[in-house]
Amino acid sequence: MLTHKRKLILNQAQQSRIDGWIGVCRLVYNMGLEIRIASWKSRQKFVSKFELINQLPELRKIEWIADAPADSLQAVIERLDKSYQKFFKGGGFPKWAGRRKYNSMLFKRATLESNKIKLPKIGLLKMFKDSEIPGNIKTVTIKKELTGYFAYIVTDAVKEISRPIGENQAVGIDMGISSFCVTSDGHVVENPRHFKKYERKLRIEGRSLSRKKKGSSRWKKQARKLGLLHHKIGNVRKDFLHKESTKLAAKYSTVYLEDLKVGNMSRKAKPQQDESGAFIPNGQSAKSGLNRSILDAGWGMYREMLEYKITVETVNPKHTSQECFICGHISPDNRKSQSVFECTNCGHSDHADSNASKVIKGRGTAHSRERKSLDYALAVEPSFGYVSNPRRR
Ligand SMILES: [Zn+2]
Repeated sequence: MLTHKRKLILNQAQQSRIDGWIGVCRLVYNMGLEIRIASWKSRQKFVSKFELINQLPELRKIEWIADAPADSLQAVIERLDKSYQKFFKGGGFPKWAGRRKYNSMLFKRATLESNKIKLPKIGLLKMFKDSEIPGNIKTVTIKKELTGYFAYIVTDAVKEISRPIGENQAVGIDMGISSFCVTSDGHVVENPRHFKKYERKLRIEGRSLSRKKKGSSRWKKQARKLGLLHHKIGNVRKDFLHKESTKLAAKYSTVYLEDLKVGNMSRKAKPQQDESGAFIPNGQSAKSGLNRSILDAGWGMYREMLEYKITVETVNPKHTSQECFICGHISPDNRKSQSVFECTNCGHSDHADSNASKVIKGRGTAHSRERKSLDYALAVEPSFGYVSNPRRR
């Protein structure tokens, strides 16, 4: 399934009707939540999704509620149910649907007509021109965002099947701090220069907001300004990541990355101490100074985009920055500085991130070779008619 985001061009009447429908969805969501809470409190009985859906026709006797498409209201109950499923798996309890947070609705039936989308009841909505959307439409979510109304069109098209893996079609990348990333073939992707400008703007506008009285009209105005800036930065970042991931996908079929959990994506340098126990510089200040807020969200997103385009495999991140790519010697002393790698065993020297990206690729390809030979052994074994594992004889 693929999702395409398209900006809508709505007239005033269409806007207010969509707004009204989203309002109905919010109401249905909160009512469902309320029914579940009340029933649990009074009788310890959990009201099922179907019981809630069965109450919808009664609710739709009210004219302005009935105006919203029935499918969309059913989808609201399913949405509520999903947040309950998350809660049962240890997430937070479902929240009330507030005006600010709850600003979308789902349509289960829709068709495309050139650059228009046809939805139940409201008919054709104009979209900004963009590339064609392949596949059959599964669902469409209309979302009201800061900069307008958007359609998220989900289709049944599948992404292209990745090409076969050859070693020179694979690449290792080390996600950098001072640069965006370094690839094992020696390519350095710099952070876009304008990120720095936005970083400064964010600080200035954020400070300005904190000086205003919370809730005042000046505060609200500034909050909106800051919101728009975040939004703009998000778009710029997404654009950059799209371009970079597309470039990489055009050259390779497999990419190896360190298996960093999303929470660790913004890597912190560990405090380093010398023999006397005093802390020595570890490059942390340089790291934290650089585009933190802008890039933090970037790496996870970059990986997701790559996953859409090519095969992404992760390797164990342990000591990738301290291991020599040539001789395999691991030592913190190999790292002369943030950027210089010089092996104390064999003397191999390289840019530190470049060495790390080669180590990452080495780990990735070794792992896939191992796996292939294992697959081969498993596939071949039965035809020989004996069991190769001596312990099982
Ligand atoms: Zn070495």
